[in-house]
Amino acid sequence: MPASYDLIIIGAGASGMMAAIVAARGGQRVLVLEKLSRCGAKLQATCGGRCNLTNRLDNKTLMERFGKQGRFMERALERFDAEALTQFFRELGVETHAPDGFHVFPVSHKSETILRAMEEEMARLGVTVHTGESVAKILVGDTAVAGVQTAGGTYLSRRVLIATGGRGYPQLGSEGDGYGLAEALGHTTAPLYPAMMPLRTAETWVADCRADTLPRVTLRVDLKKHRRLHATGDLIFTKNGIRGPVVLDFSREITPLLSRYETVPILAQLTGGKNEEEIRRHLKEARETNPQHTTLSLLMTLLPESVSRALCGLAGADPSLAFGKLSGRVRDHLIRLLVATPLSIIGHDGFAKAMITRGGIHLKEVDPKTLESKKIKGLYFAGEVLDLDGPCGGYNLQWAFASGVLAGEGV
Ligand SMILES: Cc1cc2nc3c(=O)[nH]c(=O)nc-3n(C[C@H](O)[C@H](O)[C@H](O)COP(=O)(O)OP(=O)(O)OC[C@H]3O[C@@H](n4cnc5c(N)ncnc54)[C@H](O)[C@@H]3O)c2cc1C
Repeated sequence: MPASYDLIIIGAGASGMMAAIVAARGGQRVLVLEKLSRCGAKLQATCGGRCNLTNRLDNKTLMERFGKQGRFMERALERFDAEALTQFFRELGVETHAPDGFHVFPVSHKSETILRAMEEEMARLGVTVHTGESVAKILVGDTAVAGVQTAGGTYLSRRVLIATGGRGYPQLGSEGDGYGLAEALGHTTAPLYPAMMPLRTAETWVADCRADTLPRVTLRVDLKKHRRLHATGDLIFTKNGIRGPVVLDFSREITPLLSRYETVPILAQLTGGKNEEEIRRHLKEARETNPQHTTLSLLMTLLPESVSRALCGLAGADPSLAFGKLSGRVRDHLIRLLVATPLSIIGHDGFAKAMITRGGIHLKEVDPKTLESKKIKGLYFAGEVLDLDGPCGGYNLQWAFASGVLAGEGV
């Protein structure tokens, strides 16, 4: 006779472990099935192993950052907001802090601290955890869940939670299994796109500008119908494109477009948001202060040398000449580049380097109050497998944890 549980959780990531803890605290007998040989591989890798587990935004603003889908999170965040999350870990002996006043980390700055606390709590509560066991099928009798099947056997339960994550960084376990498991039961999936990753550009000059981080860069899509898509933050050039916090946020807007357009033109505001008038005024004042300025040294009052040289090259300006010695056409071109440098996005590294998956199980098929499927009784969802993705900065873990709590309580 197969073993029977009150709840089976597929996936021991942030959302699955949280749901296991909450359900077990409620007296449920819980089985967690994890395909990798250890729990929380992705959680451990977050933020370079430091784990930015949430941030200091209020719920309304946090939801807005997930776009129009964000309203779906309301109930989960009401139940378990950033404050509740820090309180939860405090009770497990893990203190958190926000060194920059926004991004919340464990004080240890080690994601291991978070992972260990959750594993110890699951053990204390008697949660059964099987690692190295991948769920291949969810069993359904009539219209309600009956259990799951793995290569090792069958487990029975009238409640199954899909907490399998997205498709990004598949070596950390999230290979997209949850979509297939749910689709086999009649659920549908919004198109999946890799997000939060570096982007490749057609421009090769970027390779010469790798040394510096540019602060407060705004990237904006330069396609008529999509000009509202933008992001602001630090930017770093790479040997074949761009990366850095602004690119991580921006990429979730770009990858869906790249599936429709071969090239996505964007404009990069590299000078901290200065408009044309401010740039002209700045250059005038800098030249008055130091009449010896070459065009290069003048641009370097705004940008690192490598980028200043690259812009001179793009405008056809001799960097060693005084700015006033350049033709009016070349000067205007340089000023336009300082206001908005065009770049052409031509690709990315796909899910292999995607920290987040855009798309997922359609939200309209899931009850936001409980995270139970509207199609199959006893089937629940939590975390990234749902069609929700937030920007970089603790948003996605906050959602994973909050949805884990709601689903864990729902059962
Ligand atoms: C490198 C990196 C850094 C990140 N940094 C941050 C950060 O600092 N802050 C932040 O908020 N977000 C960050 N994220 C995003 C965040 O980690 C995820 O959104 C979050 O972990 C999703 O949690 P989850 O529980 O939904 O899925 P996951 O954490 O991906 O867990 C899913 C689990 O399910 C298991 N699984 C999958 N299929 C099966 C199956 N068939 N049977 C059994 N088990 C299965 C997987 O092995 C995995 O352990 C980062 C992501 C990456 C890749």
